Amino acid sequence: MPPLVFVLLDGVAAQPARRCMSHMLALEAAGQARYAELECELPPLSRPAYATLFSGLPPAQSGILHNDAAHLCPLPTVFARARDAGLTTAAAAYFWISEVCNSSPYDPARHRLTHDPALPIAHGLFYSHDAYPDQDLFHDAACLFRRFRPHLLLVHAMGADCAGHAHGGDSEAYHEAIRQADGLLARWMPEWLAAGSTLVVTSDHGMDAQGSHYDDLERIRRVPFWLAGAQAQDLALPQSQRAVAALMEKALGIAPETRKS
Ligand SMILES: [Zn+2]
Repeated sequence: MPPLVFVLLDGVAAQPARRCMSHMLALEAAGQARYAELECELPPLSRPAYATLFSGLPPAQSGILHNDAAHLCPLPTVFARARDAGLTTAAAAYFWISEVCNSSPYDPARHRLTHDPALPIAHGLFYSHDAYPDQDLFHDAACLFRRFRPHLLLVHAMGADCAGHAHGGDSEAYHEAIRQADGLLARWMPEWLAAGSTLVVTSDHGMDAQGSHYDDLERIRRVPFWLAGAQAQDLALPQSQRAVAALMEKALGIAPETRKS
């Protein structure tokens, strides 16, 4: 199976993505990427969305209904299923991903550098500062990709979410953070695609003008979803965030399992 690189750009709404992510739009125009928009689950918060994206469970079923619900996802995530299928997994990601998928609570001295094939995410570089630079995060991911050749790599950048909280979803800083992430994709995607990868680029939720994301608003709930690379033409685009885990499992060649979605 070709590797799957899953890029999660935290806090990027569909509308600013359509304006600022020129590199992704260029791939789409050239027929090298396919695009859909998804509506994120309620509440539109990061930790609940991580559990939904990687297990298929909506927040009301995962029990991860707020950002302080620091417990493991109750269903095996796609990382656990990949590990069980003998695949290599890796993530450069915010530490909540470690808590949702690997173990909780997060102990930075133990978990920041994770290398344990028994864990769902075997190779992890986890950060805990919301302002961790996206450039360094992409470098972390690039290191993991070259060193471990994972079948499944999560690249989880927080720059847009951080800028949105600080300056609001209409601010220049928020839009510039999205451009920066798109530029980093332009820098690193060619190497990952050349290795035969399938790529997903999406987000967990958007941002309102005041710099928060809690309300049932289109600018908060509508998020972008791109599919590129080896299997881009073969996989069906998901209809909801609850369908993303199943898409990932299909891309990885993991036998389907009934999910409560
Ligand atoms: Zn946020």
